[in-house]
Amino acid sequence: KVRTRFAPSPTGYMHIGNLRTALYGYLFAKANDGTFILRIEDTDRARFVPDAVDFIKRTLDAAHIIPDEGPDIGGDCGPYVQSERQEIYKKYAEELIEKGFAYRCFCDTEHPHENGEYKGYDRHCRDLSEEEIKAHLDAGDPYVIRQKMPLTGTTTFHDVVHGNITINNDELEDQVLIKRDGMPTYNFANVIDDHLMSVTHIIRGTEFITSTPKHVLLYESFGWSIPTFVHLAPVMGKNEDGSVSKLSKRHGATSFSELVDMGYLPEAITNYVALLGWSPKSNQELFTMDEMAEVFSLEGLSKSQAVFDYAKLDWVNGEYFKKMSDFDFSKAARPFAGELTEELDKKWLYACGLLRTRVSRFSEIPDMIHFFRELPEYDAELFLNKRNKVTKEIAAQVLEMAIRDLEAAPGWTPYSLDAIMQGVVAGTQLKMGAVMWPMRIALSGQKVTPGGVTELLYLLGQEEAIERLKKGLK
Ligand code: GLU
Repeated sequence: KVRTRFAPSPTGYMHIGNLRTALYGYLFAKANDGTFILRIEDTDRARFVPDAVDFIKRTLDAAHIIPDEGPDIGGDCGPYVQSERQEIYKKYAEELIEKGFAYRCFCDTEHPHENGEYKGYDRHCRDLSEEEIKAHLDAGDPYVIRQKMPLTGTTTFHDVVHGNITINNDELEDQVLIKRDGMPTYNFANVIDDHLMSVTHIIRGTEFITSTPKHVLLYESFGWSIPTFVHLAPVMGKNEDGSVSKLSKRHGATSFSELVDMGYLPEAITNYVALLGWSPKSNQELFTMDEMAEVFSLEGLSKSQAVFDYAKLDWVNGEYFKKMSDFDFSKAARPFAGELTEELDKKWLYACGLLRTRVSRFSEIPDMIHFFRELPEYDAELFLNKRNKVTKEIAAQVLEMAIRDLEAAPGWTPYSLDAIMQGVVAGTQLKMGAVMWPMRIALSGQKVTPGGVTELLYLLGQEEAIERLKKGLK
């Protein structure tokens, strides 16, 4: 039975790379009727950021990545927070000492040592005699527990994405497993927990490939079966000069919450993030979470780096908008819209029918509707249009007739306004374009607007619309 986990260290905000790791773990578990676990790896107290755990939970929640087991949720393998599992790690470290795969190190400095390939602790305490060890313990000397690495041979592990990876054992430092304060290191706690939580597939970033041989040696020392490793190629950001580097702050918003604040839909972000390093067998690009969970497989993972592309995210998000109802859109968009005129506020649902297919993220809305609140300064030249054969005289003729008919309008609905505009076309005997062009300019001060003239009239309201048309006449 497949069991995956997301094992973040609460050392900061949750960026897109972390989100993707969590998402793939979740999707793979769901695709195989498995279990997805959240485990907090908080043993490095020096790097601990207090709000980070909360932030991680909220992000997963917002992205609809819901763990089956974890802190707050529970499960058979808890606790799911490493700092609450100290006793467990201690017990296993002692077991390793007994088996001869670890030793106590009483050195109070690191004894840095460089000898060819090997860089690191000089193994001073690796072969202390029983008496020496006893003397230290009796004296109450503090110690760390180190892994006794094999000095010869090689270690090989298989990675689903990268194939077989082999390293020479003599390059491995006798790394610390338990620190002086009794806390385990990441490398140790990670292995113990993946085993005790029966994790079958370890899905994480490539930065952990170099630690994996050490993990494999630990599994072997305990005689435990080795899980399947899946190391994900990094997510890159595009630099101004066209080169790429690991996605970071300087590429813009790179955390889930920042993207939400920028006006992207959580579902669209998750959908886009899934495509960063994974491709389905078909050409489909838009997926609900359930659809992704249906088709997700490890074979679709890419070995090469994925580049985060805002334009692509815009496209995905825009497609989600197109599928939304006007009502849902209007609710979600409202906080982004800023201050609305009274008319626009009343007719917001209607306005959203126009906006929904014209923006690719909510944050584009304020600019797009700004002219409703304030008619921009515009040049009278704007009325002239060759293609529609609009001259100053024609513009004046149109506006005059429109003002007259609109002032007499018995009602102010899109339907009745449409009828009035048809009347202006008939009355002036002009082409549709020649009528609509000057109307749009006078109503909005710009050549392009969301929606046509009828919609603009309706959304502006009678008083404001007529005032603008009169201003256009001057
Ligand atoms: N705690 C590690 C991190 O935050 C997790 C590594 C792993 O998934 O094994 O990146």
